[in-house]
Amino acid sequence: MSTIAENIAKVGVRIREAAQASQRDFSSVGLLAVSKTKPADAIREAHAAGLRDFGENYLQEALDKQALLTDLPLTWHFIGPIQSNKTRPIAEHFAWVHSVDRLKVAERLSAQRPAELAPLNICLQVNVSGEASKSGCQPEQLAELAQAVTQLPNLRLRGLMTIPAPTDDVAEQRAAFARLRALRDALNLDLDTLSMGMSHDLEAAIAEGASWVRIGTALFGERDYGKV
Ligand SMILES: *Cc1c(COP(=O)(O)O)cnc(C)c1O
Repeated sequence: MSTIAENIAKVGVRIREAAQASQRDFSSVGLLAVSKTKPADAIREAHAAGLRDFGENYLQEALDKQALLTDLPLTWHFIGPIQSNKTRPIAEHFAWVHSVDRLKVAERLSAQRPAELAPLNICLQVNVSGEASKSGCQPEQLAELAQAVTQLPNLRLRGLMTIPAPTDDVAEQRAAFARLRALRDALNLDLDTLSMGMSHDLEAAIAEGASWVRIGTALFGERDYGKV
């Protein structure tokens, strides 16, 4: 087995055990492989080992890899910060966007989504940790943003996403993820998605209801940002 295939198996065990611990069905937790900074061949290996959903943060890097992988039936998720002048290629080349945090970006994605494609699946990114440095809308802005996004014709609002402030304290991890779930439930919009949990905190996220965990390092190893 390749290292990536071994890592996928190990992450699969972590997801399975976390789901079991909270009486959740293993299949209700999607594994989104975060392949930023990793070469197309790493994605090929992960696909060969059974993964289909891949998340990328940097637009040009993602488009370059997509062009090398057109022979594979992959589902692409955009999970990075979005500049509003770069929305068109995102609307054209991805099935999901997890990082929408303002209406202007949502409006552009809807207007630029090609008519022949299914509506773009959207998660609204929320800042649940209150740190000025983190992206995501403020919880107080969420209801208005969500209502507006549901009106956009070529988007399908699926749920919420968050990247909490990193901490090793499992109780703090769970509290942040529980906040996202409570915000989702309070919207009362029949949203099926919570995109939360990364390599170091996927267990806490699954305990609080994650439907996508976004895993990079635990699948592909440490990232070398010098190569981007
Ligand atoms: C990089 C990244 C991840 C993956 O993080 P790991 O700690 O490597 O698992 C998940 N989500 C987002 C938004 C990211 O930018």
